[in-house]
Amino acid sequence: MSDNPSFVLRGVEDVVYEQRPVPEIRDDEVLIEVKKTGICGSDVHYLVAGRIAQFVVEKPMVLGHESAGVVAKIGAKVKTLKVGDRVALEPGATCRVCDACKSGRYELCPDMVFAATPPYDGTLARYYPIPADICYKLPDHLTLEDGAMMEPLSVAIHAVANIAQLRPNQSVAVFGAGPVGLLCMAAARALGASRVIAVDIVPHRLEFARSYAATEAYLPPAPEAGESRIRYSERNAKLMMQTLGIAERGPTAIDLVVDASGAEVSIQTGIIIAKAGGTFVQLGMGSPEIVIPVTTLLTKELNFKGSFRYGPGDYPLAIALVSQGKIDLKPLVTHRFSFDQAIEAFQTTRVGKSADGKGVIKAVISGPDVSPDDLL
Ligand SMILES: [Zn+2]
Ligand SMILES: [Zn+2]
Repeated sequence: MSDNPSFVLRGVEDVVYEQRPVPEIRDDEVLIEVKKTGICGSDVHYLVAGRIAQFVVEKPMVLGHESAGVVAKIGAKVKTLKVGDRVALEPGATCRVCDACKSGRYELCPDMVFAATPPYDGTLARYYPIPADICYKLPDHLTLEDGAMMEPLSVAIHAVANIAQLRPNQSVAVFGAGPVGLLCMAAARALGASRVIAVDIVPHRLEFARSYAATEAYLPPAPEAGESRIRYSERNAKLMMQTLGIAERGPTAIDLVVDASGAEVSIQTGIIIAKAGGTFVQLGMGSPEIVIPVTTLLTKELNFKGSFRYGPGDYPLAIALVSQGKIDLKPLVTHRFSFDQAIEAFQTTRVGKSADGKGVIKAVISGPDVSPDDLL
């Protein structure tokens, strides 16, 4: 265990491979040999913009946070894992003592050490040190590639199961058919939703959503010249309700809207189509300030909630649903790259398709010396 090649972001549009020391581990930690890492919009955003909200890249940082790997070394006090265990990694280590941690909402911990969120290094390296209790053993029939997908799936599970508290037989509309939106649809189906409506402005994404987990798909119309966003959203919501037979109340009403797009018009439309007393969960990060129809929100007594990352219990539920065959992660991995091709993986994710024209849902980078075709 002498070398630790790492994929490092030095500044905007500036990435290099560095040979870094093999990390030391504390007594409660394990050292993971990282085998598979999915590329997320946030990783690409740091590469392109050097920041997300208050998180600014000020010193070189290893990228990557959606990972799975094999335990290479265990700390003196670790009893739950052994060398050779195949695990999915929660990429955020929490402080365990603050109010948020103690009240069971550790995603809100102010002292979170989150992989590839400045100033903390990410997982695109041969080795990554991590507390043992946030590593989850994978059943033998799941691959390490499935394991890397548990992070975005847990983000979806958090929104749908935990924040929204979806119940069987409820109706769900998901705005945005990117990776997290698709996983929200899959989570809703797995948890017994009777109706899962996919909304996106890109027809081929909708087509995929329909084949993957959605029961219906809706393509919004183009805005008219001079139409304000809120007037457009009102028109769009009306059309959507007519087209799909959505009522304001009763069995054909929408119990839960999840916005996984971050687009202002999607959020506005979602608030208008949600049923009275329904739930709206904001998951997509888009423009930081938007106009919302607040009177509609209050007269319908909507539960308008934010959802950030994942929390306690989300990883185990994600792994269980995939293990039971209720969610299939394989169709979402569209592109695979070797460790040496990390730059190409980022470029492909950024452009949204590879040179052969194939659209990207999720690109996965293998660890050093691991073949991209071996899902492990
Ligand atoms: Zn992510
Ligand atoms: Zn904390």
